[in-house]
Amino acid sequence: MTGTCVIGAGIIGSWAALHLSEAGEDTVLLEQFPLPHTRGSSHGASRAFRYLGDETMDRLDYSMGRWQSLEADHDVELFRKTGLLNFGPKDDPWLKQFMSVVRAAGKRCDWLESAAIHERFPLLNYPQEWGAAWDPDGGILFAHRCLSAVQKAFLATGGHIVNARALRMDHSANAVRVELESSSEESEWREFSRIIVACGPWTTRLIPELEPLLKTLAIPVTYWRQRLPGHSAADGFPILYNARLKGIYGLPACEYPDLVKILYHGGPEADPDARDVPGREEYVARVSEYVRQHLPGLDGRQPAIQEVCMYTMTPDSEPVIDRLGDRVVIGCGFSGSGFKHSPASGQMLAKLALGQADSLGPGYQLPKYRLDRLEKYRVNDR
Ligand SMILES: Cc1cc2nc3c(=O)[nH]c(=O)nc-3n(C[C@H](O)[C@H](O)[C@H](O)COP(=O)(O)OP(=O)(O)OC[C@H]3O[C@@H](n4cnc5c(N)ncnc54)[C@H](O)[C@@H]3O)c2cc1C
Repeated sequence: MTGTCVIGAGIIGSWAALHLSEAGEDTVLLEQFPLPHTRGSSHGASRAFRYLGDETMDRLDYSMGRWQSLEADHDVELFRKTGLLNFGPKDDPWLKQFMSVVRAAGKRCDWLESAAIHERFPLLNYPQEWGAAWDPDGGILFAHRCLSAVQKAFLATGGHIVNARALRMDHSANAVRVELESSSEESEWREFSRIIVACGPWTTRLIPELEPLLKTLAIPVTYWRQRLPGHSAADGFPILYNARLKGIYGLPACEYPDLVKILYHGGPEADPDARDVPGREEYVARVSEYVRQHLPGLDGRQPAIQEVCMYTMTPDSEPVIDRLGDRVVIGCGFSGSGFKHSPASGQMLAKLALGQADSLGPGYQLPKYRLDRLEKYRVNDR
């Protein structure tokens, strides 16, 4: 029995594997689909990085540092600062609280009144009663490049990526065993010292007892064509964050020229292996209405492109980063916001697996991510 197996080469598993390998662990990163693939939660060209909205800056600061050093090591742009507007009424307690967290950490965060927003971003049309917290250090992570850079770094530190599906785990004994099925469709059992499960929307296939606590959603990702110029990151168009109050967020045009990505933070429940379910239209209609109301420079009649990406939701929208017994660690339920923190989440998973969680600072808030906090939702029959 040797080494650690990380199951799932999405952004969470890939970072966990890199941390283990950097710590000198013999590490196998297992992925059921040939890489790169577009079936889980980590594909696509862009993700938003924002400082506003966390209770401490520790995980975000650590993560930004790792994104920047990967960028330098691989000589590739992984992050572009665009700034981010987080909308709400002036005295919104949520915005006030989180602005003070950002400022207390010595970072800038300004309140912009409606008139200031209009002057600075004339392509936006929001109601007078709304202002926005301006998070100038927010920006776009180029997701597919990030994932590829993490996996390259993992291979460069001596890690192994294996294309096979984990069918079952047996962790009742002193070691932990996994039944693997490769493309030849023959299966074999392999023994490891420890396992990290980072299977995104497929997590409950391996750990069925989590079934009532995790919900997978098929999120329609929609791109809207600009009618007027000025919506690209290069033009200084910001990230728009209105998910808390309206369920909507958007990123400036950068992955597809002249197409602005606007999404609803939700979608119909779906099986990750049968995700083309009906019911996505109502979410696209909500985005269309939002675009027509607030983004008059875009053609809001219908999206120019639609894609699908999976969310794995927990009942409180916070992930699970925890141990499941002595030899198994789990990272799942990143609920539509796990990309930006993934370097820190991977670090937490690796430290938990190696028995070094004490070395994580209190700002990492390990208790907040424990599985047992969700037990109360089992009885509530969601
Ligand atoms: C549309 C959309 C927009 C988002 N926007 C943002 C954003 O702006 N900012 C942000 O921070 N986050 C955002 N997120 C969230 C973020 O992308 C996810 O939280 C993150 O990608 C989750 O990664 P993961 O590794 O947990 O899952 P996945 O990427 O799904 O990875 C799991 C991997 O495990 C593999 N796997 C599963 N089961 C097995 C098995 N049995 N054997 C072998 N392999 C297996 C899968 O094939 C998959 O590759 C967004 C997500 C979506 C879908």
